[in-house]
Parts: sequence; structure tokens; C-alpha cells
Amino acid sequence: MVWFNSRMENNSSRVGRRRLLVGLGFGLPALGLFGGRIFADAEQGLAFEPLQLTSRQWREILSAEEYRVLRRDGTERAFSSPLDKEFGNGTYVCAGCFLPLFSSAHKYDSGTGWPSFWQPINDEHIGTRRDFRLIIPRTEYHCARCGGHQGHVFDDGPEPTGQRWCNNGVALRFIPAGESLPALRSGIDD
Ligand SMILES: [Zn+2]
Repeated sequence: MVWFNSRMENNSSRVGRRRLLVGLGFGLPALGLFGGRIFADAEQGLAFEPLQLTSRQWREILSAEEYRVLRRDGTERAFSSPLDKEFGNGTYVCAGCFLPLFSSAHKYDSGTGWPSFWQPINDEHIGTRRDFRLIIPRTEYHCARCGGHQGHVFDDGPEPTGQRWCNNGVALRFIPAGESLPALRSGIDD
């Protein structure tokens, strides 16, 4: 778990590079093609500015369930999200700010009732922290751009990583391959 901590410590130093890369990422038409290509581009470093909104602004943007999960660390009911059984090619973006978080190339059926992935689309798009809500420590993860809670990561996933990124479906939006990714949300006027 050491790598989680080192990644978090590195987040602040990466902001500068993200800014430099603004304009290189989401303007590329290639991003709308398919998961593999998106992943390759994202792996090179998509740029993004943090999105910080007030609770009132988030309530205006999000549905009640999206708000409960994303902004209050809620957990949706198992098997309640259609994305659990979504296995088409495409990209999963944060439902709060539309930052790409996962690719269908890394999705699998964990049988838990929540969309599950064996790795994020890009480590820099994810932030983590320890969560002691259930007494047993867990690793919570969230969107690195808006801070929206996504789920927890466990070490009982499949190869090649052995990780299970257990995600709330309501915290994601699925963009099928061939459709353009939405522009990153910039605020309540979108
Ligand atoms: Zn987000």
C-alpha cells in the first residue's frame, strides 16, 4: 500500500505539468474512438484543473443519489446500477466532472453487484485515502479532479494487477466507443 501514499504526495507536484498539458488532451478527436486508444492517450497524461464547487452548487448539478454517493461518500445498493452489467467498449467518466476514470478494457464481472475494474485508466486521475468507516481499514478512492467519491480498492482482483476497484455505478457515466467524451465540467453553468 506504500505506492498509494507516494502517489498522493506527488499529486501537488503534478499540477504544474497538468496545466502545461491543457489543450493537448480533450481537444483530440482520437479520444472518442475506443478504449484502447483513449487509454494510450490518457496514460501519457491528460491535463485537468481541479474543480471545486460548493455543496449547494453540487446539489444543483447532481441528482440526489449522485450527490449522496459522490459528495457524501455514500454507497449505492448492490446490483442497482445498469453499469454493473455493462461490458461494451467505451470509457467511464466521473459523473461529477466528466474526467475519464476507467476503461472498458479493464472492466470485469466481480459478482459483487458493483462495476469493477482491475485498474484505473490513469493513476493520476485517481486519489486515495484510508477509510476506517467499517473499522477494518479500507482504501477509499475518488476522482482526482473534483474529489467525488467513487468506491474502494481491494487486493482480491484478477490478474494482471490483482486489484479490484469496486465502483459505485451512479458515480460514473459510460461513454460508448465512437461517441465523443464530454468536455470536462467547468461549473454550474454547463
Ligand atoms: Zn470528478
